[in-house]
Amino acid sequence: MKEKVLILGAGYAGSVVANVLAREFRNKIARDELEITILDKTDLNINQGGFTFLPFGLYTPEDITKPRKKLISPRVKTFFGMDGEVTAVDLKNKEVIVKSNKKYSYDHLAIAMGCITDVSAVPGLSDDLNTFYTSMDDAFKIRDLVENIKEGKVVISVASMPVPCPGAPVKFTFMLDSYLRNIKKIRDNVQLTLVWPMEPIGPPEFNKFVTGQFAQKNVEVIRNFPLASVDANKKELTSKNGDTINYDLLIAVPPHKAPQMLIDSGLTDEKGWLPADRTTLQYRGPAGNYDNVYVLGDIGPADILKTGIGAHYQAIAVSQNLINDIYGNGIKIPYSGETGCPMITELESPSTHGKGYIATWKNNVPPAPFTTTKMGWFFYRMYYHIHWDISVKGMF
Ligand SMILES: Cc1cc2nc3c(=O)[nH]c(=O)nc-3n(C[C@H](O)[C@H](O)[C@H](O)COP(=O)(O)OP(=O)(O)OC[C@H]3O[C@@H](n4cnc5c(N)ncnc54)[C@H](O)[C@@H]3O)c2cc1C
Repeated sequence: MKEKVLILGAGYAGSVVANVLAREFRNKIARDELEITILDKTDLNINQGGFTFLPFGLYTPEDITKPRKKLISPRVKTFFGMDGEVTAVDLKNKEVIVKSNKKYSYDHLAIAMGCITDVSAVPGLSDDLNTFYTSMDDAFKIRDLVENIKEGKVVISVASMPVPCPGAPVKFTFMLDSYLRNIKKIRDNVQLTLVWPMEPIGPPEFNKFVTGQFAQKNVEVIRNFPLASVDANKKELTSKNGDTINYDLLIAVPPHKAPQMLIDSGLTDEKGWLPADRTTLQYRGPAGNYDNVYVLGDIGPADILKTGIGAHYQAIAVSQNLINDIYGNGIKIPYSGETGCPMITELESPSTHGKGYIATWKNNVPPAPFTTTKMGWFFYRMYYHIHWDISVKGMF
C-alpha cells in the first residue's frame, strides 16, 4: 500500500515540508511507495514580510511573489484553486474535502494554513481601514497615503495579539520616521504614535532596544491599549479599558484568526487557534489527540510566536518528524521555540545609512543585547532574494 502525506497550505511552512520530504524520499516516490500532496487555494506564493517594505519602495511585487509551481519539488503532487481550497478537515476519518468536492485521504497530515485578518472584530475599523497586513494592493494604498503625509498625527495601531510578526508594525514605524525625517524632511510637522495592546514589546532585550529607539526618534508609544472600536467620523480610537486616542491618519494592524473552515471543522481551541504539543507540534485539541497530524506556522497555538522564522524552524522539525514516522524509527525531534524578529531602524537615504538587525531567540535562550547596523541592513535587504531558493526550498 502506498503511504500518503498530505500538506494543507503551500505558504512558507507547507512548502518547506513538501520540499524536504521530496528530497528525502525521492527513491520511495520513484518506486510509487509514497505520495506527497500539497493543497492551496491559490497558485501564487506571496512573501508577506515584503508588505512592510512596499510603502517605501524597497521591493517590487516581482520580488515578493513567485508561482508555487516554481517553488515546490516536481516530485510533489500539487493542487491549487478549486481542487486545492480546503473546505473541511475530518481527522477521525483521515479525510480532507476541497471546494470542488474532491476528497483526499492521508496517512500523515501537516496543517499549515496560516491565518487571516478579522477586521469585523473591531467595530468601526472597516470604516477607516488602512493596513499593510493584508495584501499588496493594501500595502500600495499605504504607500500613497504615506507619500501624501504633510502634517498631523499618524497613529499606527496594533489591535490585539496574536498577529503574525508582531515586530513588523514596530519596524514600519521606524521606517516611517526615517522616511519623513530624511527623505521627505517633514518629520517636525508630524506626530508619530504607536499604539500597542499590551505592556511589553517582545522579550526584555527587544523591548529595551525598541523603547530606547522610540525615545531617540521622538515616537510616542501608548501601551496597554487593546483596541475596542474606531469612530471614523471623530477619528478616535477607544480601548477595551475605555481610554481614547485621536488621529489624523490611522494605519492599523487588525486582529487575526484561523481560517474559518478550521473553526467550522471543530479543530480550534477556545482561543481560536489550532492546539498542538509545543515540542512535537502534533495536534492535541478538541477533535482529539492525533500523532499523525502536525500543526505548524501561523495557524499554531496562540502562545507560539507567529513569525516566518518560527514557521521555518517548525517546518524543519515537522519534516524530520514525518521522516522518522515514515521510517518508523520512533525518534521525535523537538521544536525548541526558535523564532525571531528582524528589525530596521533607519532607511538608506542621502543623509543616513540603512540600519538593521535580525534578533533571534528560542526557549531558554532569550535575545542577547543588540543594536542595528549597516551590515544588518544589507543582510535584511538581501534576504528577500535568497528567501525563495534557500528558505522556502528547505535548504537549511
Ligand atoms: C505584514 C507582515 C510582515 C511580516 N514580516 C515578517 C518578518 O519580517 N519576519 C518574519 O519572520 N515573519 C514576518 N511575517 C510573518 C510571516 O509572513 C508568517 O509568519 C509566515 O508567512 C507564516 O507561514 P505559514 O506557512 O504559517 O502561513 P502562510 O505563509 O500565510 O501560508 C498559509 C497558506 O495556506 C493557504 N490557505 C489558507 N486557507 C486555505 C484553504 N482553505 N485551503 C487551502 N489553502 C489555504 C494560504 O493561501 C497560504 O498559501 C510578516 C507577516 C506580515 C503579514
